[in-house]
Amino acid sequence: MFESLSERLGGVFDRLTKQGALSADDVKTALREVRVALLEADVSLPVARDFIKAVEAKATGSAVTKSITPGQQVVKIVHDALIDMLRGEGEADALKIDNPPAPILMVGLQGSGKTTTTAKLAKRLKEKQGKRVLMASLDIYRPAAMEQLAILGTQIGIDTLPIVKGESAVQIAKRAKQQATLGGYDVYMLDTAGRLHIDEVLMSEVQQVRDAVSPRETLLVVDGLTGQVAVDVAQEFEDKVGISGVVLTRMDGDGRGGAALSMRAVTGKPIRFVGLGEKMDALETFEAERIAGRILGMGDIVALVEKAQETLEREQAERMAKRFQKGLFNMNDMRQQLEQMLKMGGMQGVMGMMPGMSKYAKQAEAAGMDDLLLRHQIALINSMTKKERANPALLQASRKKRIAAGAGLDVQELNRLLKMHRQMADTMKKVSKMGKGGMLKQAMR
Ligand code: GDP
Repeated sequence: MFESLSERLGGVFDRLTKQGALSADDVKTALREVRVALLEADVSLPVARDFIKAVEAKATGSAVTKSITPGQQVVKIVHDALIDMLRGEGEADALKIDNPPAPILMVGLQGSGKTTTTAKLAKRLKEKQGKRVLMASLDIYRPAAMEQLAILGTQIGIDTLPIVKGESAVQIAKRAKQQATLGGYDVYMLDTAGRLHIDEVLMSEVQQVRDAVSPRETLLVVDGLTGQVAVDVAQEFEDKVGISGVVLTRMDGDGRGGAALSMRAVTGKPIRFVGLGEKMDALETFEAERIAGRILGMGDIVALVEKAQETLEREQAERMAKRFQKGLFNMNDMRQQLEQMLKMGGMQGVMGMMPGMSKYAKQAEAAGMDDLLLRHQIALINSMTKKERANPALLQASRKKRIAAGAGLDVQELNRLLKMHRQMADTMKKVSKMGKGGMLKQAMR
């Protein structure tokens, strides 16, 4: 979900996180790209503009936290602003369905998933809140739609209002209200007729139903895949009928996140639920954090910082690969490798990236080479003189003793380190002979 937007933003942020520092110009450039990304994701122009303005104001006023890069700071601000915009202010999350029987009016275009969502929501109210729910279809134009609701009702164990031919939508609504009152239901849901496009007849019918039952909630069901169309539909229903919330369906598809964002901004109404599939359980409450994370394609800022670190590590590995190409691999290189392994929490990661090393990584793991061992090896290297690190061939018995004692370890462990270093250096030499276009380059991919 939200692939296209997340990919675009991902590209922008990759570039940001690669730079050490970020100037005011960089922020502007980054936000310009964010704006383009939003527009391409079907966020409407005014919404994108407002969003960027809000982000820019926050970015300009905020001091950059020491522990993260300015690029990460911008990302965090964009992330938080997305959440703010998606969540809105002071909206109660729960549906207002006290005072039984509470009417819920379901509106939207035909094919948006309105009937499916009505049933999903009824099931949810029953299972999560223990509500007794009655459903009624007001789609007098499509008998099949009425039957569809009845079939779903049977499937999920929710009562539906018996179908009476020849009634108007308002008559059905009134009958539903009566039955809900007499039958002691907590909630009755009215699944209104949809059209392929907005038209006056549809709107006035929905208005009459609204006036007949005074719904506690009027939920607009829109297809999340339809982008700008969904936003126009929302605007229209909000103007003509007044809605209390939105349900975005088909968010399981690879729709663009723009709809959620502009829908929220344009109608000012909260997105209450998202539909994530055809099954009756595939309805979830809308969570701004999660959607913002998905829009950015990053679970949260922690994941982002990790990503930035990966970039750094890759750059380090690339630098090192250049040394290897020249056949260079001394104890300083070795120490850097060991430190990276420690940071990455294991041998596999870094060694796996190095040509011919994945074999050793597996051996090392099999031999129970853990963090402590890595730390010991680093301590041994630290205990060497500069000259010794640059040229391990210098290490004869007396030096070995001194180094091991300096690290508080025994010579055996130092020998193991030296053996591993020799094996790695040998492999480097072999690989460097294969030339630049060879294995090494491939291994860096
Ligand atoms: P209505 O005309 O608005 O009442 O639409 P329906 O409820 O009949 O839904 C139309 C089609 O969309 C059906 O095949 C549903 O199963 C499907 N559908 C509804 N919601 C979702 C959803 O969240 N994800 C997916 N993938 N399909 C959905």
